[in-house]
Amino acid sequence: KERNGHEPEFLQAVEEVAETVIPYIVQHDIYHGKNILLRMVEPERAITFRVCWVDDSGEIQVNRGYRVQMNSAIGPYKGGLRFHPTVNMSILKFLAFEQVFKNSLTTLPMGGGKGGSDFDPKGKSDNEIMRFCHSFMSELFRHIGHNTDVPAGDIGVGAREIGFLFGMYKKLRNEFTGVLTGKGMSWGGSLIRPEATGYGTVYFAESMLGTKDDSFKAKRVVISGSGNVAQYAAEKVIQLGGKVLTLSDSSGYIYDADGIDAEKLAFVMELKNIKRGRISEYVKVYPNATFVSGKTPWEVVCDVALPCATQNELNEDDANTLLSNGCMCVSEGANMPSTKEAVTAFHKAKILFAPGKASNAGGVATSGLEMTQNSLRFNWTRNEVDVKLKEIMANIHDTCIQYGKDDDGYVDYVKGANIAGFVKVADAMLAQGIV
Ligand code: NDP
Repeated sequence: KERNGHEPEFLQAVEEVAETVIPYIVQHDIYHGKNILLRMVEPERAITFRVCWVDDSGEIQVNRGYRVQMNSAIGPYKGGLRFHPTVNMSILKFLAFEQVFKNSLTTLPMGGGKGGSDFDPKGKSDNEIMRFCHSFMSELFRHIGHNTDVPAGDIGVGAREIGFLFGMYKKLRNEFTGVLTGKGMSWGGSLIRPEATGYGTVYFAESMLGTKDDSFKAKRVVISGSGNVAQYAAEKVIQLGGKVLTLSDSSGYIYDADGIDAEKLAFVMELKNIKRGRISEYVKVYPNATFVSGKTPWEVVCDVALPCATQNELNEDDANTLLSNGCMCVSEGANMPSTKEAVTAFHKAKILFAPGKASNAGGVATSGLEMTQNSLRFNWTRNEVDVKLKEIMANIHDTCIQYGKDDDGYVDYVKGANIAGFVKVADAMLAQGIV
């Protein structure tokens, strides 16, 4: 706390893990006296760098770039790049720390990292985005590699940005390797990667509902965000027979009591991914829906909530509103979207609650599958990747139950995910000695 007191999001993520992992360490002799958690919270390496680029009016802009290489005990660093004005070291360290546990849970050989910039892609032209990405990679390329560190997308970094980043990496290194994931299909990408985080979040929720002999059929589902994760979470909910009532962005949320069906979702995908518009434009085309400005969708009556936008977007009051409206299941698509107090409220009410490091692990797992396909120089079919994704999510769900089932039968998925993620990384670190 003394060393990281100025990094609130990082402390929040560490405290949540420490609360469940320290009692486990106390009960298991092999971890005693090794300061293993203290070693895990210190990044192996964290760099910041200058990113200069020229905007369309000819003016020179300066942003700050980052890469946090948190832990490589079980594989090369792996984790996304975030471009958003709120990016700072605290946010990236929390994301990199979570990533270590998440990647461990997938059972694939990937360490944890995260990076990005305080660059705001909103309102920028394609050429400005390209110049920024090229400049960003002109420094990052020295620190990454397909056996060292393999970045991917995150908020503000999608297929377009990955393309520009990959182009500059390839030029500087003069090699074509799987150094980034989330690539386009014609140049090394994997089928199902764009869908994987959202689909995985819903597969995980379906497994949780399955423990109550229930499913998504006819469930009222509230989703936040309207980016990559939210879009494909909505698609899978619709496929499984649920009714999606909301989507949002940082301006507010839309509520469609008739349900956002496949056709309406196709409109949202075009609006957000191609036209790069705002979610409020939905109500112009579907006037039965309403746009609620400046609010999050947690006040809408629902059975299942899927927070898929950003950290700390669901607080204690929101959790209590969801609970009093009868919400029975929350599966996090975003990273740490629920505050600590909100998680406590869900646990107290003993509803089904999945933390992002378990429920949104499908994205990085499929990135791992993309890395495998790149190494094999071979592509699996859409169905093959989807089957593997489903299997991985089901395994993570079972592992959470193994480590997280309380004496009264309630499954604390937070505890399960933290301990299971910890054990594999800690064992590898102990085997490799004090380095
Ligand atoms: P996108 O950039 O595609 O979409 C982000 C969405 O969240 C947008 O609708 C955005 O609205 C909204 N949002 C972002 N910041 C805020 C904010 N401060 N307040 C309110 N709304 C906000 O990102 P992704 O869908 O890829 O990522 C969403 C979440 O999922 C993040 O927490 C990310 O870390 C996590 N995640 C993503 C993975 C992936 O594979 N992409 C993998 C695992 C986790 P607006 O356009 O107005 O900014």
